Amino acid sequence: MRILITGAAGFVASHLATHFLAAGHDVIGADNFVTGRRVNLRYLEPEPRFAFIEHDVVQPLEIAGDLNWVLHFASPASPPKYLKSPLETMRVNSEGTLHLLELAKRKGAKFLIASTSEVYGDPDRAHHPQSESYWGNVNPLGARSVYDEAKRYAEAATALYGRNGLSVRIARLFNTYGPRMDPADGRIVTNFATQALANQPMTIYGNGKQTRSLQYIDDLVAGIGKLMEANYAGPVNLGNPEELTVKQIAELIRELAGSRSELVYHPLPEDDPTQRCPDISLAQRLLKWTPRIPARDGLARTIAHFREELAQSAAVSDRAGA
Ligand code: NAD
Ligand code: UDP
Repeated sequence: MRILITGAAGFVASHLATHFLAAGHDVIGADNFVTGRRVNLRYLEPEPRFAFIEHDVVQPLEIAGDLNWVLHFASPASPPKYLKSPLETMRVNSEGTLHLLELAKRKGAKFLIASTSEVYGDPDRAHHPQSESYWGNVNPLGARSVYDEAKRYAEAATALYGRNGLSVRIARLFNTYGPRMDPADGRIVTNFATQALANQPMTIYGNGKQTRSLQYIDDLVAGIGKLMEANYAGPVNLGNPEELTVKQIAELIRELAGSRSELVYHPLPEDDPTQRCPDISLAQRLLKWTPRIPARDGLARTIAHFREELAQSAAVSDRAGA
């Protein structure tokens, strides 16, 4: 197959590109580096079947030759990053999604959108864990709405093209982590891991009782692959239902990093969801998929990766200073 993956210099899409290249497919990656990193392309560029286009996918994109899939993963995803680029976030999920849906239609390709558990907003207790039938509890005007509502629009646009005959998939990703994340992206795992490795204070926002369910990247990649094979146009949750409080996540990362960091408390960001856990019964039934990697194992692998990456960048700055 020939697959276009937008956001290929980012965390999730660079892993997907690796996966499809290893399976023998041709991959075209597109990215404008708004939150992605050139270092993530180093895993892909040695592959002769990988091609990269530096492009802002808010602008129409033309691809010469055949195309079997468009996987639209381009979008800032970390709250501090999308709050810093709010308009870019709205545009890549709205205009960008429309252009890429049109591209898929022109090419006779299938289309998959990376949506998010944020479409559920701050879920109420009656809808915990969250299943795909829940319409969500989103503040349409708050700071986070630039991401949440843009993803809801992206789903609506994808569903429309699906009703009009395009073969589409909607993956609702829950918090996913692993190697190749930008250590400075401000998300929970990156902040806690880099702080713990440096024995710096670990910054818990709010009282730390809010929950998240952390999925390791390899499980997500397997789930996306299976969703592409399933002929199902509705939304599908992909996440790990192992639900932990933010404080438990901090303590686990501190333990795994062998750190002496203290836990410090900072104000809770606006509209930060109080609980989040996927109901994955649809994915289990439809895709015969279930996440395999517990938080303890995935976090240990991720911390080891950050330890190495941070040591390498310290060595580079030492050499530059010498
Ligand atoms: P990331 O920031 O690491 O990667 C996003 C990539 O998209 C970056 O390389 C960025 O430069 C690129 N990009 C953004 N706007 C672009 C544009 N206009 N043109 C071209 N490239 C552009 O984030 P990620 O965690 O890898 O997330 C990837 C996708 O998965 C996003 O759509 C995100 O909303 C979704 N998602 C991720 C998670 C998660 O926990 N990681 C959870 C839910 C949904
Ligand atoms: N969080 C935290 N300290 C940090 C970073 C994040 O306590 O240094 C909390 C954040 O308030 C949220 C959870 O961890 O409750 C997950 O945050 P993240 O930014 O990773 O993603 P979200 O799930 O909110 O989109």
